[in-house]
Amino acid sequence: MLKVCKFGGTSMANSEALAQVKKIIFSEPERRYVIVSAPGKRNKQDTKITDALYACYDQVIATGNCKEEFKFIRERFNEIKTELGLKLDINAILDRTEQEIVENKSADFTASRGEYLSAICMAEYLGYEFVDSADIIRFDSHGKLNQDYTDDKVQLRLSKVERAVIPGFYGKDFQGNIKTFSRGGSDVTGSIIARAVKADLYENWTDVSGFLVCDPRIVPEAKTIQQITYKELRELSYMGASVLHPEAIFPVMKGKIRINIKNTFRPEDRGTMIVPNDKYIGSEEQIITGIAGKKDFTVILIEKSMMNSEVGFVRRVLSILEHYNLCIEHIPSGIDTLSIVIASEELKHGVLDDVINEIRESVGPDYVHVIENISLIATVGHGMSRRVGTSAKLFNALAEAGINIRMIDQGSSELNIIIGVANSDYEKCIQTIYKAFN
Ligand code: ADP
Ligand code: ASP
Ligand code: MG
Repeated sequence: MLKVCKFGGTSMANSEALAQVKKIIFSEPERRYVIVSAPGKRNKQDTKITDALYACYDQVIATGNCKEEFKFIRERFNEIKTELGLKLDINAILDRTEQEIVENKSADFTASRGEYLSAICMAEYLGYEFVDSADIIRFDSHGKLNQDYTDDKVQLRLSKVERAVIPGFYGKDFQGNIKTFSRGGSDVTGSIIARAVKADLYENWTDVSGFLVCDPRIVPEAKTIQQITYKELRELSYMGASVLHPEAIFPVMKGKIRINIKNTFRPEDRGTMIVPNDKYIGSEEQIITGIAGKKDFTVILIEKSMMNSEVGFVRRVLSILEHYNLCIEHIPSGIDTLSIVIASEELKHGVLDDVINEIRESVGPDYVHVIENISLIATVGHGMSRRVGTSAKLFNALAEAGINIRMIDQGSSELNIIIGVANSDYEKCIQTIYKAFN
């Protein structure tokens, strides 16, 4: 049995949390490869090391040095060193790091140092070898992970190491530059390592006892999901359930490695098991698995009689969006209508007006209507396809709560119903759906 364990920011935040992490690792000899995040917040008002590092980068670009901003990083790692009783010369390492940040002038390099320093401290604390991700994780020239090359590198390097601590979040490109994943990317590193070493389990240790049916900040009493498939998880994490990085399931998919989301501060809780799609054994009563959502979308509604018999209509509309480099979230359509849902952020600085004008010129619609400040909410679950009346139940509950549904998109997989509501109804909508099914 081989387990790969990733510990998130809160688990790395201070000496008490780190002592807890050590206890967890030492309690099972199978926990051989440990991936760590940068120290996170010690309390609500605190700053994450990664955020402080991005501030260092901004200061370097503005002034040529980061003396002021780097003080916070120094204090945090000195505190960790002292409290854990480590022997390493942390100030010498920090001096070198500060100098490299100034010389490199790279946001990715700067941000990666949180994980780097965190892993060096953890390696000494556990008595494990430190293996730098820069030596084993490779990005291509488009900033995408080179999976095959990385698999080989990781296998080769770790075949010689019984137990190691590996920093999350970053790797290197073929030119030798440090590259990071997007925020929260240590989850992806854990998944890459788990796949390469063919782990039996990838444990992802965080500050909640698993994936909850919905965001606990919106529904505090939300129950824990005991089991969820890769597909369901992908839908939920893409839609904003932030427990696991949305890309963290791809590396483990092929090897069908399960992921167990666990709580560092309540290790006895079973947490959530994320399983391959064909290993799902959901209970009969369970209709929905989870609910997640994101705010701030714009819907462009195009109406034209007989649109469906006009060859090339949709293509012409989509090519305008492509020309503006816009990512489309959803395209629900009817006989005479086509709705396009795009993150509002992408339509700023006059882009929306330009797009509308081009659509008017190109396809001569009867009517183009724009609905702004829309939230998308996904209700996800394999159980929905088995159960007649799921949508009726959902829509009735929302009608009773007086929530106006502005858009509906039910994917062909029957795994997912996505609705659009006003941003102001976002929280109420999630609470209503939760109540209807629990
Ligand atoms: P880590 O630093 O360990 O990677 P994250 O902050 O990335 O942890 O993810 C855990 C947090 O995700 C929780 O503290 C919780 O606030 C938030 N969260 C959002 N949606 C959910 C959900 N559906 N279930 C559980 N936690 C959620
Ligand atoms: N430290 C990085 C972040 O805050 C990566 C991670 O924690 O997963 O985004
Ligand atoms: Mg995270």
